[in-house]
Amino acid sequence: FLLQLFIPLNFLGVVYRSMKYAFIDMGNLFKLLDEKPEIQDKINAPALIVGDGTVEFKNVSFFYQKERPILHHISFTIPAGHKVAVVGASGAGKSTLARLLLRFYDVQGGGIYINGQNISEVTQASLRAAIGIVPQDTVLFNETIFYNIHYALPSANKEAVIEAAKLANIHEFILQLPQGYDTLVGERGLKLSGGEKQRVAIARAILKRPKILIFDEATSALDSHSEQAIQQALSQVAENHTTLVIAHRLSTIVDAEQILVMANGMIIERGNHSELLALNGTYSQMWALQQETDN
Ligand code: ADP
Ligand code: MG
Repeated sequence: FLLQLFIPLNFLGVVYRSMKYAFIDMGNLFKLLDEKPEIQDKINAPALIVGDGTVEFKNVSFFYQKERPILHHISFTIPAGHKVAVVGASGAGKSTLARLLLRFYDVQGGGIYINGQNISEVTQASLRAAIGIVPQDTVLFNETIFYNIHYALPSANKEAVIEAAKLANIHEFILQLPQGYDTLVGERGLKLSGGEKQRVAIARAILKRPKILIFDEATSALDSHSEQAIQQALSQVAENHTTLVIAHRLSTIVDAEQILVMANGMIIERGNHSELLALNGTYSQMWALQQETDN
C-alpha cells in the first residue's frame, strides 16, 4: 500500500522537476514559483568538520541575477569563538552574507570557508547542522509552540525546551496561551507577532547551541525594553561561539571587536566602534543619526 502511494507521488515529483528544467530558458519561472535553484551536494561530499568554527569569506562575489551584481570581493574572517558585526543601509547585501554562509546559493567568485573547508565541498546537512540563525523573518510550522522550538534539537527533552524558552523571554507568554506549550501556532493556528516569532527563533538557537551563530537584525522587531533583555540572553548564547551579527541598532554592537560597514555590496569601512568613529566617515554619520532618533 505504501509503495502504491509512493510511486504516483514520486512520479509527480519527476514531472514537476522536468517541467522546471524545461522552463528555465523561458526566464522567470523560479521567480514565479518563488523557488530558488537547487543546490546539490557534490558526489561523495564529506561532512563538515566544524572544529573550532573559524569562518572566512575570501574575495566573495555574488549575484542573484547576472545583470545585477550584489556582492563585490568581500573578505573577512570571524576567528573561532569571536563576533563580527555587519552594519549598513537596507539593501547593502547584509542578509545575503547570511544566506551564502548557509549555502542557500553558491558564490560566483571567491569562496567561503569554515575551519578551512570550502562550504561548497561539504554536505549541506552537516553545514546547516553547524549553524544556527535568528533570521529577519521567522517562519513557524502549523504545529504546537512546543514543536516549533523543539524541532531545532529533536534529541532535547522537555526541560531543555522550557529552559530555552525562558532564556529567550517567551516562557511567560507561552504559559498565558490557551493550551500553553500545546497551543497551535502558525498560519492555521494562533498568529504570533513579529517580536514573538523572533523570540521563538531565539529559543531555537539557544536550544540548538551550534558552533556558529547568525543573528540577522535579531531584535529589530522588539521594543527597546525587551530588546535589552533579549540582547543579554543573546550575548550569553554567543559566548565562545563564532557569531555573525547583522545589526540594525548600532547600540547593540558597540562592544564588537570588528564591525564591517557595508554599502552597495562592498565593505567600505572596518574596525571597532572607536576606530570607526575616529574615521569620521559613514559609520560615524550613522551613529550620530541614531543618537538623534533614539533620544
Ligand atoms: P540587506 O540585508 O543589507 O538589507 P540583502 O542582502 O537582503 O540586503 O539584499 C541585497 C540586494 O539583493 C538588494 O538589492 C535586494 O533587493 C537583492 N536581493 C535580495 N534577495 C534577492 C533575491 N532572492 N533575488 C534577487 N535579488 C535579491
Ligand atoms: Mg537584511
